[in-house]
Amino acid sequence: MNSSEILKTSGFTSAELTAGTLVVHTPIDGSEIASLKMHSTDDVLQMVGKGVDAFSAWKAVPAPRRGELVRLLGNELRAEKENLGRLVTLECGKIYQEGLGEVQEMIDICDLAVGLSRQLYGLTIASERPGHSMRETWHPMGVCGIITAFNFPVAPWCWNAALALVCGDPVIWKPSEKTPLTALAVQKICDRVTANFAEAPDGLIQTVIGERDAGEVLTASRDVAIVSATGSTRMGHAVGAKLAERFGRCILELGGNNAMIVTPSADLEMALRAVVFSAVGTAGQRCTTLRRLIVHESIYDQLLPRLKTAYDGLPIGDPLKDGILVGPLIDAQAQGGMDSALQQAVADGGTVHGGAHVHKGAFPNAAYVTPAIAEMPAQTDIVKHETFAPILYVIKYSDLDQAIAIQNGVPQGLSSCIFSTDVRETEYFLSAVGSDCGIANVNIGPSGAEIGGAFGGEKDTGGGRESGSDAWRGYMRRQTNTINYSRDLPLAQGIKFDI
Ligand code: NAD
Repeated sequence: MNSSEILKTSGFTSAELTAGTLVVHTPIDGSEIASLKMHSTDDVLQMVGKGVDAFSAWKAVPAPRRGELVRLLGNELRAEKENLGRLVTLECGKIYQEGLGEVQEMIDICDLAVGLSRQLYGLTIASERPGHSMRETWHPMGVCGIITAFNFPVAPWCWNAALALVCGDPVIWKPSEKTPLTALAVQKICDRVTANFAEAPDGLIQTVIGERDAGEVLTASRDVAIVSATGSTRMGHAVGAKLAERFGRCILELGGNNAMIVTPSADLEMALRAVVFSAVGTAGQRCTTLRRLIVHESIYDQLLPRLKTAYDGLPIGDPLKDGILVGPLIDAQAQGGMDSALQQAVADGGTVHGGAHVHKGAFPNAAYVTPAIAEMPAQTDIVKHETFAPILYVIKYSDLDQAIAIQNGVPQGLSSCIFSTDVRETEYFLSAVGSDCGIANVNIGPSGAEIGGAFGGEKDTGGGRESGSDAWRGYMRRQTNTINYSRDLPLAQGIKFDI
């Protein structure tokens, strides 16, 4: 299918695709595929107003009924999986298999949210007073703004939206200005689902098309109770500070700088496959991409040559084609960022393998690169920085404490892993003195998390948690209730106050 066929099967009319000034390119060949109408500040504020009205109605709908809406959304996504997966590939350049995987994540989180809609439970707590009981209840919180990044254009919206909706919160989405088409396609799917669901109020699910300033309007509005923002640490600093000013609820999912430690007992065959998938998948543009490989000095010379051979054989090209494993970078700016990081690595004493620009003849306006391996003498400043491109820095270590110190010695704290068959090493890595990341894995790479566990990381990654476990609590307000069923009015702490 070519780009106009993909856009047509996603339900876009040519009027919509030429309605405004937000120009959208496909990274596959760099061509313009749409120029969309952007929302003004007034439009966004009106949408917030509609969201507030929707909240009054939606919070009164029983949670299992809210879950039913999400169940129907999951069904619609199943039916649209191929179309949407292809559009993800067209707009952000990840290979079609990964585009499908992203839509599957949306389906999976819908399933999880449907189950949760019958389990939004609190505690019962022992009271110190006779004839009293205490409990904790969870209530809907308000409008939830969802700001997302270009590299996962649809799944993180759904991680948030599916939970927010069952928790009773309307959602307003501000997708990346680089990937607004996938968001509009999802909005169309949602419109079909809500149109057939009597209890769904107008304004329950909305999408704002715009740039950073549209996100700023959501962040500044006191009517947006929660802002969940996925993107760079720079963006998180701005959003987090604004939310803190107005005591708004904030969920931040920011940059990562993920590492793998390969110990002498590791299964090297497995480690090799995990390194390649997690370092070059999505062309190194995942928040959980493997960026630092920390290898024991005794196995370094066995692993590195094999890794370089695997890199040399990687099929790089049009991500819609079968068999391609590495698509393009999002744009020339990303390619420039990769080039300068590799130059700095060399200046720091590193040796670089790969990192060439390719397919310039076939796609002069696209940004295809060969993934790079940079063997480094130490963890220099450039290694500590998240460059959003397929660069794998490799560092040798001699003992596990040193490896863990290197692994933790960066500002970000998203994902980490160890390859080892020694239970002492793996348990040490997972203990309080091991990895400081939100995600720590054993014998699998740092990327490709599944729905079910809480997703997110510490330090410059922002501290947010989404998706599984008890992440739903981030979309609700907690209320503590004390109930007196006696005929007396005893005070807590034994205080006497007789009148
Ligand atoms: P980005 O920060 O440039 O943009 C992300 C979104 O934030 C966009 O929608 C943008 O318009 C908006 N935005 C930017 N500044 C804003 C502001 N001041 N106020 C409100 N909104 C603002 O990120 P990107 O280049 O699209 O994505 C790549 C980054 O995202 C990487 O750092 C990557 O690690 C991170 N990321 C993190 C996760 C995670 O779950 N931790 C997932 C995906 C991507």
